[in-house]
Amino acid sequence: MLDGQKRKIEYVRISLTDRCNLRCQYCMPAAGIEKLRHEDILTFDEVVRVARALASLGVRKIRLTGGEPLVRRGIVGLVRELKAIDGIEQVVLTTNGVQLAALAQPLREAGLDGINLSLDTLDPAVFHRLTRIGSLDDALAGLQAAREAGIRRIKINCVPLAGVNEPDICRLADFAQRDPIQVRYIELMPIGCARTAGLRGIPTAKVRQMLEEHFRLGPMLPVQAQAGAVNGPAVCYRLPGFAGEIGFIDALEHKFCASCNRVRLTAEGFLKLCLNAKDGLDLRELLRGGISDENLRLALRQSIWHKPVEHHFKEAHDASRDRRAMYQVGG
Ligand code: SAM
Ligand code: SF4
Repeated sequence: MLDGQKRKIEYVRISLTDRCNLRCQYCMPAAGIEKLRHEDILTFDEVVRVARALASLGVRKIRLTGGEPLVRRGIVGLVRELKAIDGIEQVVLTTNGVQLAALAQPLREAGLDGINLSLDTLDPAVFHRLTRIGSLDDALAGLQAAREAGIRRIKINCVPLAGVNEPDICRLADFAQRDPIQVRYIELMPIGCARTAGLRGIPTAKVRQMLEEHFRLGPMLPVQAQAGAVNGPAVCYRLPGFAGEIGFIDALEHKFCASCNRVRLTAEGFLKLCLNAKDGLDLRELLRGGISDENLRLALRQSIWHKPVEHHFKEAHDASRDRRAMYQVGG
């Protein structure tokens, strides 16, 4: 399915909940959030119905996110159902990993294709401070369980923060040196709590320089995006001798809007057309109002046609900007 800019939309990120078992400083307020009511969140049957409609329009990849997707009960069964949809080639998950130790094996058996594990630090004290309540051991046990379960595509996501996790930038890259894991550095985006948390992201160019100086293996070599794959916004490199890859996601300096291939579904069933904009469609109202499959497809097609041309993160007062926080959208 093409949007009005002739971009091919093949990927949907589905947020399953706004709840989370951590309180990362750049994502959630310390006091927690005003939670959505259970009845306001899409049921799994509704999620599967939207996924089926999107798949029939050309979507091939689904990412489950949140809040923390693993706190939503029944996620293993959902993965199995999504994997069974005609046209869906990949179902993957973004998680903080703290509940992954128990779930990695059943998720793998349900057909999960990959996991992005958010891990900003390998220092237990920094982990606890940054997440306010988390234990690094739980996240590392989750990572280990994912590897033992044989989940093929494992990526580690780190948000580099000045004066917080600088020493971890190179330590996390060790995972990519030893194993076929992609370690990605995501620039802090000015969304929700990140605007007021007093944190400063480290620019991608600086992170790259730190890695090249630390490993002293020569310049990073660009990795070609896989032909035919549903690729994300990360620009990937390999350092000589590395088993895995290093990726950078740098939405602010290098807009990838022209090649954007995705839409988002929030936990309460709003189809979001751009991470940063409020444009979209209230699918919950349509689903609960008894819309037919054919009209659902039509509504999706019409809405996606109007996907915004580009994001406006850098404009301080942009009327089109969405007020939703990261935990409400899923990254
Ligand atoms: N709870 C899951 C997790 O942490 O992986 C999934 C949801 S979380 C919102 C998805 C990703 O968004 C995480 O990798 C997190 O680090 C990232 N994130 C949250 N707020 C961010 C911000 N302001 N800038 C950049 N990344 C952010
Ligand atoms: Fe939770 Fe993920 Fe947000 Fe951290 S980044 S508070 S783990 S939703």
